[in-house]
Amino acid sequence: MGSLPILHRRALIGALAAGAALAPLQACSENPATGRRQFVIVSDEMLANLAAQTWAQVRAQTPVADDARLQARLRGIGARVAERAGLTGLDWEFVAFDSAEINAFVLPGGKVGFFRGLIDFAASDDEIAAVMGHEIGHVAARHAAERVSQQLAVQAGVQAAALALSEDLGDFADEAAAALGAGLTYGVILPYSRRHELEADRLGVDYMKAAGYAPGGAVSFWRRMLATSETRGAPLAWLSTHPAHEERLAALEALAA
Ligand SMILES: [Zn+2]
Repeated sequence: MGSLPILHRRALIGALAAGAALAPLQACSENPATGRRQFVIVSDEMLANLAAQTWAQVRAQTPVADDARLQARLRGIGARVAERAGLTGLDWEFVAFDSAEINAFVLPGGKVGFFRGLIDFAASDDEIAAVMGHEIGHVAARHAAERVSQQLAVQAGVQAAALALSEDLGDFADEAAAALGAGLTYGVILPYSRRHELEADRLGVDYMKAAGYAPGGAVSFWRRMLATSETRGAPLAWLSTHPAHEERLAALEALAA
């Protein structure tokens, strides 16, 4: 697990104070995709705002791959999987970035970035669909909202109170963005928890299957990813945010069977 980023206390207190003026949100609600109750103290509006800023920053810093066929292939897989996930109300964007890094990320609101390194590493559309399903699983399960909420609660020492946050997070925006899973922009990466990874795997396999892809792609992708990391002696970028372990691989194999 990576260390928690240091939050700017002043900005955080400001954000919390601004939030106090807003109508309180329901702090704990059941997620329809997972059936699990979640602690969420950030508004969808704040998250969407944060995600849009982060997406714009990634696009400004990383060139988009100049390959129309590659972009169309990724868009086609993404649209199929997102539709089968039932998340048709989002303004999805699937973009391949021209970077050798073996990584991919998703932001709330449906912005999905794949780096060329990961697309080249994938052996088939089934494997790309496996990563796509997993990332879309993180969206369906609202993991970003949960992560940002947990970060805020830990840092502010907030009990399970109903809080709403300002749209403007000021200095805190970078750290909150790291909690979204786009920490690559800032050099601060928060790994997803074991529970979130297992949930995203379960949903991802369901979605890729429903979209007509072979679920075995999920198993072959993760196995090769792990083996490559071991050979290199350092985890690949993707694994630093999506940690893998034997229990997880065994669960994936059972899901894909
Ligand atoms: Zn993940």
